Amino acid sequence: MTNVERINSSQQHFRVITPDRETGARTGILTTRRGTVQTPAFMPVGTQASVRALSPDEVMRTGTEIILANTYHLMLRPGVDLIRAAGGLHRFMAWPGPILTDSGGFQVFSLAHRRSVSEQGVIFRSHIDGSLHELTPESAIDLQLGFDSDIIMPLDELIGFGAPEPVQQAAMERTHRWLQRAIDRFQSSVQDAGPDRPFLFGIAQGGFIPELRRESAAFIAAQPVDGWAIGGLSVGESKDVMDAMLAETISALPVEKPRYLMGVGSPEDLWRGVAAGVDMFDCVHPTRVARRGGLFTPDGRVNVTASRFRDHFGPVDETCDCVTCTTFTAAYLHHLFRARELLAYRLASIHNLRFIQREMAAIRRSIESGTFAADMAAFLGRYRPADAEAAREQRRHWAERHAPARP
Ligand SMILES: [Zn+2]
Repeated sequence: MTNVERINSSQQHFRVITPDRETGARTGILTTRRGTVQTPAFMPVGTQASVRALSPDEVMRTGTEIILANTYHLMLRPGVDLIRAAGGLHRFMAWPGPILTDSGGFQVFSLAHRRSVSEQGVIFRSHIDGSLHELTPESAIDLQLGFDSDIIMPLDELIGFGAPEPVQQAAMERTHRWLQRAIDRFQSSVQDAGPDRPFLFGIAQGGFIPELRRESAAFIAAQPVDGWAIGGLSVGESKDVMDAMLAETISALPVEKPRYLMGVGSPEDLWRGVAAGVDMFDCVHPTRVARRGGLFTPDGRVNVTASRFRDHFGPVDETCDCVTCTTFTAAYLHHLFRARELLAYRLASIHNLRFIQREMAAIRRSIESGTFAADMAAFLGRYRPADAEAAREQRRHWAERHAPARP
């Protein structure tokens, strides 16, 4: 059996359970070597081998089945050798469930200093101490295998929002060449691992050009990978543009493998992404806004530091069963944030992750019961994203600030 046949022969790792009749939504089961994941699934981000402010046990109790960790941060600190010596990332951080790692590319293109991109890979200086590093399609695979990650992402080339069309096309084509190098490295490294091997996903890019989006999706669909990620979205474009690019990408992806929309995960985006046919999401948004006092409720995001919560002696979210809402009042959270007490970050993060995981469970139930479209309309009709325009502005600024310079 060749490597390609061996990888293709284990495609039972993902099973669609119920496809929705009216939209692209579907429920499914992703079986990894470290347990199963019910899809559609949301993956909290544990940037530095830690979901910020939470213990693994607290993360698990939000209903989380899989988390994401960032290769860029971990390769710089504490380094892959230390994580390997610790017995792998799961043992090091005491998270027994599945872990997906990114390739490091996103942070190299957004955080690192003095980056230079060539066909070989990316050379950059650490944002921590200025030390020089290289990330190639091969080394990104080696690092993630060294972490003992369960789902590995290939290095891709990222470009800033609004890049000219030839730049978008060149980045997509390089991303495809890099994927083939990643597949070669992955297959030669895991060929003896048998059914216990990790998974490798491909990433579709294509910027904001519909034809490129379809071309890139068709390209990764033809590769021997275990799942399909959709990259380069939610980087400053409007929601309508994002939805359109997502639809183009998914139109060229068959049904049988998991589809992962990278870096997207605000409460309203999750319903829309699932409707388009997405099975997996990750985003720092729920925990990042939590640490600033932004808490999700069925009516939208509220800021608990606002004076109206000073003497609100009920929970932040009446409908929530998390430890924060069942134990503490909004007035107490308001006080903790005002006093900058560390407990504030933990309680707010627990609530937002539980809110998102309850939302994912509601999405799965509504697909199973055939009421997805109506339930999505009800959710979106009620949920008001906090300052949608401001959030978009913020993303646009971020994207402009971090727009990679072309070599
Ligand atoms: Zn709660």
